[in-house]
Amino acid sequence: MPELPEVEVVRRGLERHVVGRTIGLAQVLHPRAVRRHVAGPADFSAAVRGLTVTGARRRGKYLWLPVADRAQGMPSVAEDALLAHLGMSGQLLLGDPGRPVAPHVRVRFTFTDSGPDLRFTDQRTFGHMTFAAGGAALPPMIAHIAPDPMEPDFDEAAVIGRLRSRRTGIKSALLDQSLVSGIGNIYADEALWRARLHWATPAASLSRAAAGRLLAAVREVLAEALTAGGTSFDSLYVNVNGESGYFGRSLAVYGREGEPCPRCGAPVRRDPFMNRSAYSCPACQRRPRRRTGRASSL
Ligand SMILES: [Zn+2]
Repeated sequence: MPELPEVEVVRRGLERHVVGRTIGLAQVLHPRAVRRHVAGPADFSAAVRGLTVTGARRRGKYLWLPVADRAQGMPSVAEDALLAHLGMSGQLLLGDPGRPVAPHVRVRFTFTDSGPDLRFTDQRTFGHMTFAAGGAALPPMIAHIAPDPMEPDFDEAAVIGRLRSRRTGIKSALLDQSLVSGIGNIYADEALWRARLHWATPAASLSRAAAGRLLAAVREVLAEALTAGGTSFDSLYVNVNGESGYFGRSLAVYGREGEPCPRCGAPVRRDPFMNRSAYSCPACQRRPRRRTGRASSL
């Protein structure tokens, strides 16, 4: 599933290739892609037609394109937005408007300049798009999503406080998009490995300093992944030009069960975790002992 670095790579591609262009047609080729747009596919297409994309924004794993109606030739400020979540396998790809669409294209946007079109491709159809009225600054349907660690709004001290008040394990807390957004399984496991913390460590047992080190590790791994163009772990994630990211080769533990820990050589362990997996080094990331009483030793 695309996480913050992958979505940010897509955002940068949209900023470069789509901003400033006016949508001609939006063809919904599969209604499930706009299921969150309650008024239906026809309304979605009508809502975005003729609007000019004025920006490309992101919070966590959500992307949105602020759009303005410039039909009268008057520069109007964007009030609304086109919101997208890539889900498990969503891609936003530039295409040649003269060429037929591939089987998994769910929505196609053509532009009035007849340049490359934009294709929302989604094999597993967990992704979605919607028109967000009044959503240019922040779509109302994602107002509950917490700022991500790369946003200026990210309040580190407050997040550390809230993290330490959680009654869950630390990995569950990192995945909670209402606490901190943008982190999924890959970067949670990688950040925990960097911070030498086991995924099941109770969030409430972390000292302020340990929580600060963990957030620093999160930021570090996200930044490195972004530089590498993201992680194309299951080859479903690509940028707007269809190119894969290469951070996959830098992963220390994620997806590497049985391979040596890059730090100590112990074989990486995989544990079942919320219908998915948690990868960790059994030597560098010691599982917390149960019922240790006051667990402030971390
Ligand atoms: Zn190790």
